[in-house]
Amino acid sequence: MKRVSLAYLVAFLIVNAAADEWNYPTPNSNGVMSEPESWGGQCDNGRRQSPIDLAQAAAVRGEFAPFFFSNYKLPIKQAQLTNTGHSVQISNRDPAVTIQGGGLGGRFVLDQMHFHWGSEHTINSARYGLELHLVHHDIRYASLEEAAATRNGVAVLGVLFHVSAQPNMHIDVILDTAADIRNEPGKEASLKGKLSPHYLMPANRSTYFRYEGSLTTPACAESVIWTVFTDSVGVSLEQIEQFKAIHDQNGKELLNNFRSVQPLNARALVYATEWDQQDNNFAEVPRLHAMLIGLVGLLVATSKCLY
Ligand SMILES: [Zn+2]
Repeated sequence: MKRVSLAYLVAFLIVNAAADEWNYPTPNSNGVMSEPESWGGQCDNGRRQSPIDLAQAAAVRGEFAPFFFSNYKLPIKQAQLTNTGHSVQISNRDPAVTIQGGGLGGRFVLDQMHFHWGSEHTINSARYGLELHLVHHDIRYASLEEAAATRNGVAVLGVLFHVSAQPNMHIDVILDTAADIRNEPGKEASLKGKLSPHYLMPANRSTYFRYEGSLTTPACAESVIWTVFTDSVGVSLEQIEQFKAIHDQNGKELLNNFRSVQPLNARALVYATEWDQQDNNFAEVPRLHAMLIGLVGLLVATSKCLY
């Protein structure tokens, strides 16, 4: 009996120790992925997984109230950059950095920001050089971990970066710091400069894709309201290559860290634009004209009947 319990304990410890030891498939020398990820559990069995291809043809139109960003223009306080072995991540501990509106149905606080090189989401099958994830949790939950156990408990904003001739000065702050920790997963360093979430986002934040999905790393919890802005931000080719020099927990270069696109299944993909009061007023004008024409027509018909 005792031996069985011990064997069970050992097995339990091995399974749990292995829980964080997952990897992105290594691309071959041509950059092509040989096989999809096999991360187990909900990552393999879920029906509402992320990322997905954001295909305009598969989307329905939506209109939401504008996003309201609180304290996004302020530099992150005591910002630390961590090499997680799967990405580089900047944590936020200021509870005043929040978003609401945008059809989210509550207020969400920013927990952390991290990058994927190349992008996880594709737009009409086109992949971008880089994708930033701004991870938030609903303030009704005590922590990101608690919120991640609930459907729509987490809100992630996805920002896509296209390749441009000009380097991105805000990304440079991250890369300058990353150079010191790139060979040491688990290590963190104070950010060498100021970094505000606002300046990592596109100017147009009212046109985006919206769908309900999951975290894109194990255990792939299906708790995320996704917002991926359609307007992208510029980053230079050289900057993208600097991300690829970051090492994973096996001491290898993390050449890319995006999960393969997942099936949409029975979910709605929404292409959202800001609700436009002016548009709606214009829409009233033809309706009023139609009513007046109808009324005049009725009067003419009635008067003809009288004679
Ligand atoms: Zn991510």
